[in-house]
Amino acid sequence: MIVVMKAGATKEQVQHVVELVREYGLKEHLIHGTDRTVVACIGDKRGVDKGAIENAPMVEKVVPILAPYKMASLEVKKDKTEIAIGPDGFCIGGKKIGVIAGPCSVENRDSLLKTAEAVKKAGCVGIRGGAYKPRTSPYSFQGMGEEGLKILAEARDATGLAVVTEVIGVEQIDAVEEYADVLQIGARNMQHYPLLEALGRTRKPVMLKRGLSARLDEFLLAAEYIINGGNSQVILCERGIRTFEEYVRNTLCLSAVAELNDKTHLPVVIDPSHGTGHAHLVPAMSQAAVAAGADALLIECHLDPEHAASDGAQSITPDVLAALVKRLQRIAQAIDRDL
Ligand code: PEP
Ligand code: MN
Repeated sequence: MIVVMKAGATKEQVQHVVELVREYGLKEHLIHGTDRTVVACIGDKRGVDKGAIENAPMVEKVVPILAPYKMASLEVKKDKTEIAIGPDGFCIGGKKIGVIAGPCSVENRDSLLKTAEAVKKAGCVGIRGGAYKPRTSPYSFQGMGEEGLKILAEARDATGLAVVTEVIGVEQIDAVEEYADVLQIGARNMQHYPLLEALGRTRKPVMLKRGLSARLDEFLLAAEYIINGGNSQVILCERGIRTFEEYVRNTLCLSAVAELNDKTHLPVVIDPSHGTGHAHLVPAMSQAAVAAGADALLIECHLDPEHAASDGAQSITPDVLAALVKRLQRIAQAIDRDL
């Protein structure tokens, strides 16, 4: 159930509704839109007198909501959530579409700093790179850990790019929060609920990747864990799902962009690298993602893909990235956005 306040409701009038809601044993979550406040009510609604709340001063309406995810739902907040990232405060979810690029994993200082320079020059807003890697095999490269985080922070200082890097467990949150601008939750961890709850207590934006076999409602409920935990800065990332198809590593679900934009106010990012598994498919899927309404792209880019420590097959080179960004700018303009 959500209580929509009339435009111009005072803080005291909102507080009055909050107290009424609490009297019914419900928990409130306030959402401040551009011109009105909404009080989302969480808990058992049986026994709640909807009419009594509707009668309170400056309440416009009380709406029962159907979506199981409340705070992430467009029914609760009509205006798109804009999330500022990095030293330049680029807004994901705003008119401008952002490209975040970088290697799958941070491999060494020299190559990461060079990649960051190239990524910046290409016109991107963020550098990606895993310091902690969730690898399918325990024998594969597991990442540089905290040293990798320090290299990423150095790249941010040198370029002004926002740092996006993965947190694979609750134990790493403090370290990643200290060095990164956006905490990425990998597909394998989308249903790691204690991790999601712990991310609710952080103050940094979280980029939540869709699980390999998660439905969109499960994806949104995972986002709900983080918002319900206290952190509303959640960015959704579609990175492809497992299907029977074998010519791609994952099947990139581009219709998810349009569907998510229809269901949630949270920004939507497409990862065409994990979404295809092949570098030659990345430019076309990036173009399609922008046309479909994605707010940002997360792209794997490597100076020397053939020798990458992980995911070389799906990494594009800086030259391909630079040409792609130019093309994406024209597509963005064609749909009244910018890049
Ligand atoms: C990654 O971004 O490098 C990654 C491991 O992604 P995913 O969780 O989508 O597999
Ligand atoms: Mn990768």
